[in-house]
Amino acid sequence: MGQARILVVEDEVIVARTIASQLSQLGYIVTGTASSGTVAIAKALETQPQLVLMDIVLKGEMDGITAAGYIREHLDIPVIFLTAYGDDHTLERAKITQPFGYIVKPFTIKDLRIAIEIGLLKHQLELELRENRDQLATLLNSMSDAVIATNEQEIVTFINPAAQMLTGWKEKDALGKNVTDILQIVDEVTEATLENPVTKVLREQQVVYLGEFTSLITKDGKKVPIGDSASPLKRRPDNISGVVVVFWDLSERRQTEMLEQALDKEQELNRLKSLFISTVSHEFRNPLTVIQTAVELIEIQGTNLAESKKHTYLKRIQGAVQSMKKLMEDVLFMGRAEAGKLECNPALLNLEQFCQELIAEFSTIESRPHEIIFTCHSHHTDAVMDEQLLQYLFGNLLSNAVKYSPQGGQIHFDLTCDSVAGVATFQIKDQGIGIPEADKNRLFESFYRASNVKTIQGTGLGLVIVKRCIDAHKGEIKVTSELGVGTTFTIILPLNN
Ligand code: ATP
Ligand code: MG
Repeated sequence: MGQARILVVEDEVIVARTIASQLSQLGYIVTGTASSGTVAIAKALETQPQLVLMDIVLKGEMDGITAAGYIREHLDIPVIFLTAYGDDHTLERAKITQPFGYIVKPFTIKDLRIAIEIGLLKHQLELELRENRDQLATLLNSMSDAVIATNEQEIVTFINPAAQMLTGWKEKDALGKNVTDILQIVDEVTEATLENPVTKVLREQQVVYLGEFTSLITKDGKKVPIGDSASPLKRRPDNISGVVVVFWDLSERRQTEMLEQALDKEQELNRLKSLFISTVSHEFRNPLTVIQTAVELIEIQGTNLAESKKHTYLKRIQGAVQSMKKLMEDVLFMGRAEAGKLECNPALLNLEQFCQELIAEFSTIESRPHEIIFTCHSHHTDAVMDEQLLQYLFGNLLSNAVKYSPQGGQIHFDLTCDSVAGVATFQIKDQGIGIPEADKNRLFESFYRASNVKTIQGTGLGLVIVKRCIDAHKGEIKVTSELGVGTTFTIILPLNN
């Protein structure tokens, strides 16, 4: 800083000259001298010095303090006072002009140098600080993220334009308010008020983030999904002086997510529709081929057809018609369920009696003999449920238990009614082939069949129908199974629907 340019303001010409020569000796450039306040201001304007040495007592009406105030404020040039007076009143007045130092007369050339160097350094630091502050302010004002700062009493001390836009609170109204008034945070789904991040930071003394699905309630009551992080402001490592919350609008992202989900759902629906059509037509083709072949054989053999053969062919036709009928019913059921037209008409019925009748009926149409052992563990088994849906439900589960068990295997059907809990628990347990672990999670998807049933006939619609019937009763179903040991389906339905 040896080449710094300095203006000397001093009413006594000899002193002024002495100072100027001392400055030159020290390597500074003297831009001029002035003996009055008005000349000082004019010369400061004209010569643009980097520092002004200012005597307090000057010629004319304007004293050094007033001139310094002007130069400091309008020209942003640092001023060092030269004074013979060290009295309190003068110092107080001088302080207002934010001087960069004082030199008390008489002074040595060394005093002069130290005061000038410190003054220039202070001014340089002040410029840098101001620049940093300006940069920070520009950044905060132009960033798209919303920023709110508070003190340690949760009072808002700063709010940037993005935060004003998002919250609907203008700076003048927000400053000085408690942050919970400005930043009202609720759960997006339940709308329950959540703890303010500022309170949380002050309590936990560390950075905190908002949970997923959090919304801000704006000044005019709108709900905006937001994400945020809140950090403590620390002057010293162990002392929190406030909190900064940075948050941003997630509305667009939510909309995109919802759109993507809807699109995925539609694609999945289309895929299922195509799969449904191709599977159903394929499943119809099998029994049709059986019927066609049997009819052709009967035709070819005509009157030569032996009675026993005729019986076999007719049995085949009957079987094929049966399976087409079941498939047809399943498809119709699914169609109704998909269209949301699955009606649940609950009526009073006795569950023990219902189960016994269902098992009896099932045993008569069942071609592969199995022993179905029914046990009712309760005295009172009255319930209000849809009998037809129960028939679909347990008909399918019994038919699976039979289909996936070796001939002669036992099937246990248990019923327990708990009138206190208000639920009926049904359990159908077989000693069949079991379900591989990898398939268990997908059993209730349309057309899904486990890897160990490829040689056994089936469409993969039975359990979907079962699930629909259970949902219609607001119940639940659980499966436990061990390969080669057996499978147990447990169904829990509310007694009163
Ligand atoms: P259908 O539509 O004719 O009922 P399906 O029996 O194959 O055909 P679901 O009843 O939906 O279809 O059953 C789906 C799959 O779950 C079956 O293919 C089978 O792999 C498995 N599964 C269901 N019940 C049992 C059971 N009791 N034991 C072993 N596997 C079973
Ligand atoms: Mg089935």
